[in-house]
Amino acid sequence: MVVLTGAGISVASGLRTYRGPRGLWTEDPKLAGELVAGVDPQALWTVARAWRSEVARAQPSAAHRALAAYQSSLAAEGGTCTVVTQNVDGLHERAGTEGVIALHGALSKNRCSRPGCEGQAVASLDDVPAPPPCAACGAPLRPDIVLFEEPLGALEEWSAKKALRDVELFVAIGTSGTVSPASNFVRAAAYAGAHTLLINLDANGGSTFDEVVMGDAEVLVPELFA
Ligand SMILES: [Zn+2]
Repeated sequence: MVVLTGAGISVASGLRTYRGPRGLWTEDPKLAGELVAGVDPQALWTVARAWRSEVARAQPSAAHRALAAYQSSLAAEGGTCTVVTQNVDGLHERAGTEGVIALHGALSKNRCSRPGCEGQAVASLDDVPAPPPCAACGAPLRPDIVLFEEPLGALEEWSAKKALRDVELFVAIGTSGTVSPASNFVRAAAYAGAHTLLINLDANGGSTFDEVVMGDAEVLVPELFA
């Protein structure tokens, strides 16, 4: 089984979605403009610092916890449930899910802003006003997240595609299913012969799934995965 999650699964944790009413990008279009490839490291750091403090106050929702419990019960029966997420909030990991594939990176980590630097991603929640220097080359560190116009991490993309090669059930939660990579994932899962299910507030993009269940993730996920 492969589960793809988007911003909708973290709404009950107090985190806003990106698009749509009250979305981060909707309420503050300038913010989206600051999260583009090539942005000034200080500007990016300032945005990330505010975002990190919002995430630090959030707790995993009932949906995050239900998925973690489901993953371990399925493993006990010899199955696997791979969780792929578009979120950078780390709430799946905090709920206890193992091996999360974070397609858009992790807000809780930093890496060097200089392309090609070998400085590895390091956990850092240092609440400092300016980006600390890379230990390898001295360039400013940046949050280890995928910005607009940047490619996905090669390892994450490869891992997700590998999991989708022999999937029997594909579930997208809290994501519209219309934006890449979600749109590609549902097609890949269908090609592998999987049943495909969308759990989301609305049925946008639902026509590419076998089944759509509409409602709040924190209500539906604990019910459906129980
Ligand atoms: Zn460096």
